[in-house]
Amino acid sequence: MQVTVLGIDGLDHGLVEELGLNNLRQAAHGVLSIPDECYRELAEGGRSPWTPLCWLTILTGQVPPEEYRMARNIQFDNNLLEAIRWHLGRYLGFVKGKRKILWKLGFKPSRAKTSIKKDPIARTLPNIFDLIEEPIAFNVPTYSENWRINPMKKLMNRLELLPYADEEDRLMKAYVSSVLGRVVDYDLMMAYTRVLDNYGHQMYGSEQYIYRYRMMDLFVKEVSRKIDGLLLIVSDHGFRRLEGTEHGGEHSDHAFYSTNIAMDVPMNSLTDVYALVKRALET
Ligand SMILES: [Zn+2]
Repeated sequence: MQVTVLGIDGLDHGLVEELGLNNLRQAAHGVLSIPDECYRELAEGGRSPWTPLCWLTILTGQVPPEEYRMARNIQFDNNLLEAIRWHLGRYLGFVKGKRKILWKLGFKPSRAKTSIKKDPIARTLPNIFDLIEEPIAFNVPTYSENWRINPMKKLMNRLELLPYADEEDRLMKAYVSSVLGRVVDYDLMMAYTRVLDNYGHQMYGSEQYIYRYRMMDLFVKEVSRKIDGLLLIVSDHGFRRLEGTEHGGEHSDHAFYSTNIAMDVPMNSLTDVYALVKRALET
């Protein structure tokens, strides 16, 4: 059967239940555990499921290979460092002879190597898009060429990400609606949005956050009517309040899935999504 996958970054099972969002819940739904190999250590202490490694696992059905797990521990997000780097780059970047100073300060030019934050690493492994001839992928992490974990380079404040995430979400919804509206023949389409993740980090528990959950539920209501076959909704992790903050959020240790058709495939972990998609495509 035809398979449509909505990848919704950070969609939280508990909140879908609490708000009674029946369109997102669909016929069958539940939580998925996140393999240890998808976690990374945080610079500020503790550990958290890391978005690209979670999506890599969803797409391939296997935990990330060692080479990708190694990279997770050295790529810390550091807002202060990012800000300094941007300012230095701005004031010194174009001045000849200053490069050595930058190097001494630790700003070495990055070598050309695989970046989990932007390269389509899922293509190095068998993945759901290999199961059929002409898949449709919209901004899918670790698969689409244009996907970036940090879509805005010159970010001074993470709140700036929110309008970006809204716009990207709007484009995703328009894209999916247009494909479905034209009854384009496809076997597998997957589209991705990060809007709930970005709002989860900055606006957890706020009205703006809840509003975007309700809008997502309405979107699913609209598309599910037009879908023939399986509609799978899946997230890479959920969200919880960041201790000591009013509206800060952090990734929780389980993900969400739902299907419009109850499938006879055990769904317990992110690694089970691949088999579900395969089964549906073969049905
Ligand atoms: Zn994520």
